[in-house]
Amino acid sequence: MQPPGIFGRKAYTRRDTLRLSLGGALAAVGASGGRASGEPSASRPSEETVPVESPIQTRMFWTWDHSTEWKLNCPGAQTIGACNYYSRTTEWFEEDYTRLLEFCGRHHIDAVVIWGLLRDHHGGVESAKRLCEAAARNKVRLLCGVGLCVYGGVYYEGDSPYSLDLRLQKHPELKAVRASGAPLEFRSRVYGNRTYYHACPSRKENQDHVAESLEWLFKNVPLDGVQIESGDTGVCECKLCRDRRRHPVGKFSWEDMALLHPMAIEAVRSVKPDAWIVCETYSHPEPHAGPDEHPGFGGGKTAWADECLAGIPDGVFIEWVYDQLGKGVPKRVWTQAGNLDNTRHRHIMRAHLGTYWAGTRGEPALDGIAEMARESMVHGADGLSLFGEVSPFHTGAELNYLGLENLGSPANPKADLDVFLREVAAPLLGGESNARDYLRYAKLKHQPSRIPDGLKAIYSRCGSLPPQAARRWAWLGNFLASFVYRENA
Ligand SMILES: [Zn+2]
Repeated sequence: MQPPGIFGRKAYTRRDTLRLSLGGALAAVGASGGRASGEPSASRPSEETVPVESPIQTRMFWTWDHSTEWKLNCPGAQTIGACNYYSRTTEWFEEDYTRLLEFCGRHHIDAVVIWGLLRDHHGGVESAKRLCEAAARNKVRLLCGVGLCVYGGVYYEGDSPYSLDLRLQKHPELKAVRASGAPLEFRSRVYGNRTYYHACPSRKENQDHVAESLEWLFKNVPLDGVQIESGDTGVCECKLCRDRRRHPVGKFSWEDMALLHPMAIEAVRSVKPDAWIVCETYSHPEPHAGPDEHPGFGGGKTAWADECLAGIPDGVFIEWVYDQLGKGVPKRVWTQAGNLDNTRHRHIMRAHLGTYWAGTRGEPALDGIAEMARESMVHGADGLSLFGEVSPFHTGAELNYLGLENLGSPANPKADLDVFLREVAAPLLGGESNARDYLRYAKLKHQPSRIPDGLKAIYSRCGSLPPQAARRWAWLGNFLASFVYRENA
């Protein structure tokens, strides 16, 4: 079955709505223990009766291959990073993502973006094809993360003509350069000590390579789409690029996006006309008002962003950064000046909640997810994207994922956290009062002196709860205890 066009309304059936509002417990218990027999199927076409419109239309997971760990108790998963080396096996790579895709199929997560999808280390094209089959079985769309000028290109790592790294090693004359003329380098800052180079976006050879690579990708791997990025680790400052641009640049350039994305979109659609294409902006929709000439990652939209977006073909998703990552940066106010025009494009808000980029990996982040859903609906975005790297065995991640499913759905159209706690979290955590306590206790991470008393209350209630609810409370206890643990203390 072909996925509907991106402007097609997602058909939530009456049964789906009922399940979302009343049966979250059953689905989520299955989520932590593999596919549960007799569990309601999220999207069986024969069950469709009267479609119910969802305020949030599209939900996505965003992942790097190296940090995704859904098959537990196998070594090698990493906990943060971008462009890391890969340290698990092909078998575990496929198992990690198969479990993730099964969860998505059960919980209305429509698409999964994988960065590092094509690597020789974990099976290259063949394992990617098997994941496409797993995605299709679960009616989830698999999207490849593709850096157009950086981040490895189409074939992230390996012996392929579509590996951008290999190509730039063979053709150093095609590299992007700094104003000094030296090659523009990007060093992976968390794992490894590797240097990455960028391609100059103005060079015709590089533009042709972007198009050729994407056409090859869609002819050889049955993907549902791509997330494309022009690069946020510095821009080329060669004469061609400087003469082309009319506006300031930062670590990224809206004008580079406006140059490259239309070519990439055309190439993808020449092979797969109905592909889902997500265009990353590295920006928040609120107009940039800071003193800097050009904002950084997650900063406001520049004054020339709209004219750049005007050149992006109709029907793609525009992806925005919801959260700011800087420590101590005050929360942004999203005003009507930042409303999104959804007549030609649809808009996705993406956040780093529940990760080390913005806090602690796997921690509950329901307040932020609910707020993101509410603000998105008010300002014209109908898509949400969260990191999906952590197994829902970790209850914080499980609650976040179920929040992504529920908040802004037909069962909770106002993205009301109380509704989520009452109808989805309560059956998992031993009742509504316990569900409220759970989120309250989770915040003790920020008040270590109160954690010991919190642990007494948490562990004491485990004995009176059913096993799966007790397991979730035990997870919270150990999560909090890790912040105050000292040997022999
Ligand atoms: Zn250049």
